[in-house]
Amino acid sequence: MLILGLETSCDETGVALYDTERGLLAHALFSQVDIHVEYGGVVPELASRDHVRKTLPLIDEVIHEAGVSVTDIDGVAYTAGPGLVGALMVGATLARSLAWGWGVPSLGVHHMEGHLLAPMLEPERPEFPFIALLVSGGHTQLVRVDGIGRYRLLGESLDDAAGEAFDKTAKMLGLPYPGGPHVARLAEKGEPGRFDFPRPMVNRPGLDFSFSGLKTYTLNTVAACRGEGELSERDRCDIARAFEEAVVATLVIKCRRALQQEKLHTLVMAGGVSANANLRAELKRALAKERAEVFYPAPVFCTDNGAMIAYAGAQRLLAGQVDSAEARVRPRWPMDELQPLERAG
Ligand code: ATP
Ligand code: MG
Ligand code: FE
Repeated sequence: MLILGLETSCDETGVALYDTERGLLAHALFSQVDIHVEYGGVVPELASRDHVRKTLPLIDEVIHEAGVSVTDIDGVAYTAGPGLVGALMVGATLARSLAWGWGVPSLGVHHMEGHLLAPMLEPERPEFPFIALLVSGGHTQLVRVDGIGRYRLLGESLDDAAGEAFDKTAKMLGLPYPGGPHVARLAEKGEPGRFDFPRPMVNRPGLDFSFSGLKTYTLNTVAACRGEGELSERDRCDIARAFEEAVVATLVIKCRRALQQEKLHTLVMAGGVSANANLRAELKRALAKERAEVFYPAPVFCTDNGAMIAYAGAQRLLAGQVDSAEARVRPRWPMDELQPLERAG
């Protein structure tokens, strides 16, 4: 079954072709970062308009790259939420129109299910059940996963998401948006141990997170170092380092706790922050002690992309799920409302 996947929930247009027998055939991505950079964040209306411009050319591109014809496509999956409503509507309308024209089914996919299943695009796939750490720009969640659509939320951030904390720290250090990769690069040059940032909520039981206090701590440290002048390069690197270490340590502690609580030995990490090299290394190190294994997507599939939507959609379309006649997107959509899938592909 050959599935076209469209991702347009935010500021990335992602398109991919996934075949349930042959795997990922092609994927293409256009990031709108340059469009939004002067505003310091994503402007919803500009995002929608650019999805309108980019989606069809990217579809042509993946069809060409995969060497298939449109008549080979068996279904179209698109992100139906959560996300920016206008951006979601562009993907949904295009996907449903194409599917209707081609006489194939379409299906709206949950964006976070897409992230969660992205590690399945790798040659080494995790087996159910596992714990998923979803760390993206808008979400920080620990989820128990017993199969596709069988999700139980164990804990989440009570305020900022981890990615959001990276982005805000980047801003304080004068780095562009999205800040995660920039902060990580500065942190590499930072000296460990100069600042000791708090590890939020690790001493409290439970699996929730909070990153807004860390943000304030970063802001105060920046102000103290700067005084009346500018931050020195050394201060910037050391602050980035201390911030990254605090986030990584917090995430690692909670992941271990979730595995112990659920008596599981497999952890899956997904979402933009899961591209972070230090987080990967520290998790691997900590979980080795627990005889647990960690799986994550290739860096390009950690942030938003069409491949994860094509994959998640393919599993559900293969099991017979299709869109109803009513076109609907859901800017807010709790993942535990998803329908469980009996037949996982
Ligand atoms: P959501 O999926 O919750 O709706 P989103 O789609 O905006 O949010 P993603 O595209 O999954 O989020 O991830 C983007 C986030 O990942 C940004 O906050 C970015 O700073 C962060 N990020 C990307 N690479 C890294 C990295 N190497 N280290 C830390 N953070 C990173
Ligand atoms: Mg993005
Ligand atoms: Fe995302």
